[in-house]
Amino acid sequence: MTAPTGAKRGKITRWLRFRLTLSYVLFFAVLLAGIGIFFRGLLSSIQRNEIGAVLEQEWGGVRGYMAIKAKAGGTYATVWNYDRDDAVETLAVQRLRSILLVADSAGQVMEASEIYLSLGVESPEKIRDALNLSEPALEVRTASDGTPYMLLSGPMRDGKRLFYISVGRSMAQQQAVLNRFTLYYFALLPFILAACSLLGWFVSKRALNPVRELAAMTGDISGSNLSLRIPSRGAGDELDHLIETFNGMVGRLEKSFNQSRQFSTDVSHELRTPLTVIRGHLEVALMTAKTEEHYRDAIATALQDVERLTQTIRALLNLSQAESGQMTLQKDAIDLSAAARSAAEQFLPLAEANEVALHYETRGDCAISADRVQVERLLWNLLSNAVKYTERGGRIRVMTQRSDGMVELAVDDTGIGIPADALPRIFERFYRVPHRADENLDHGVGLGLSFVAWIVRAHNGTIDVESEPGKGSSFRVRLPGIRTAREPDIRKEEHGVSNRRA
Ligand code: ADP
Repeated sequence: MTAPTGAKRGKITRWLRFRLTLSYVLFFAVLLAGIGIFFRGLLSSIQRNEIGAVLEQEWGGVRGYMAIKAKAGGTYATVWNYDRDDAVETLAVQRLRSILLVADSAGQVMEASEIYLSLGVESPEKIRDALNLSEPALEVRTASDGTPYMLLSGPMRDGKRLFYISVGRSMAQQQAVLNRFTLYYFALLPFILAACSLLGWFVSKRALNPVRELAAMTGDISGSNLSLRIPSRGAGDELDHLIETFNGMVGRLEKSFNQSRQFSTDVSHELRTPLTVIRGHLEVALMTAKTEEHYRDAIATALQDVERLTQTIRALLNLSQAESGQMTLQKDAIDLSAAARSAAEQFLPLAEANEVALHYETRGDCAISADRVQVERLLWNLLSNAVKYTERGGRIRVMTQRSDGMVELAVDDTGIGIPADALPRIFERFYRVPHRADENLDHGVGLGLSFVAWIVRAHNGTIDVESEPGKGSSFRVRLPGIRTAREPDIRKEEHGVSNRRA
């Protein structure tokens, strides 16, 4: 596996930057277009209101200056009353009459301006319908040249008679303002968006800088320097959380790398010596053996060595599997007292043969939730050490009891003991206490107590050892107890399973 190179990392962050900027620009485009449409609508409605107000005034003007006179034949005509010498009044009336329609209640047109005619005169039905309205209504109509006009049309009462009046105003100026606003705004939009994208590009660069630095630092971490950690930025943000998680992952990787490295070192170290011995035996036999019996002896010795080697490898594989988490525990409720008793009984013949007294004592309910096979392995390792390192005439005591919710197992012996400087190391893999030459002990491979320590850890327990050279050793294992249906047993059970000579 190779870490991404600087160029590749740059490409990754650039792509991220591009996407961030794009979403930023898209967001602004939609927002600004929305704002533009909103303000255009607002402006248009303000303009309409203004024209509407002017038309209301003009409606009043028509009322003031115009009168309806009955003509012969039952028809009507409009009459405009104003001072014709007054230029202002004349202009006002002209203006009123520039976009105007007056019709009687039958829909008959009495007066219609030229512009109004170009807008199209309402049909008599429409006029009759409009006469039923209580208030005049506003309407926008477009002339044939495309100019929009706003009209205020409705009924106007003159004495007992009802007439239809419609006054109008051109909206050309307002429309031009609106068009100009739309043009300028939307023409400016691409420039605003370009400025936004430039800003977005730089802002995202700043925002992604820590990510780029993080990527560069992670690239520096490789299999050979897994001890490196990325320093936290102290901001307490998502990136710090990422750094923390990443460091945790590197920590776990480092542990597992170290374990496999340790495994290879241990294996090569531990296999070299016995292999050299086997080779020596066979070479000597090849050079010096004369009879078939000599050859047989040499092969038998070599086979014994090979057997020991096989056991060592098996034990080491088991331990490595366990420590790397590949061994799953099958936890059941088991009685540690019963397990200890059964283990002690199995060791009795060996203890007897070594002339060592072996006792066991159980106090209270010693139920634990544990993997039976591993608990048996733990007992087997502690007891085999006790028997192995206790000399003739010595005593071994196995005791189980419950205290403060924990179940305690003690394996005490009166054996050769362990020197104080070796005590902290006895749980290390392949560690064997360098005993005195005259003790002539058959050491194991030095893996038993490493396994015991792992089993205790895997069951959330603790192990302590006290020892004094020449006086004996005492191993204490404490595991979390569980309550069983059975009432706590406060009876003290003691069994001597010692051999008769001890
Ligand atoms: P081994 O297979 O050598 O017994 P262990 O891991 O079981 O390996 O034990 C490590 C070392 O601790 C042993 O080599 C031995 O020197 C010492 N040791 C363990 N148990 C006892 C004991 N009960 N009395 C004296 N020494 C012990």
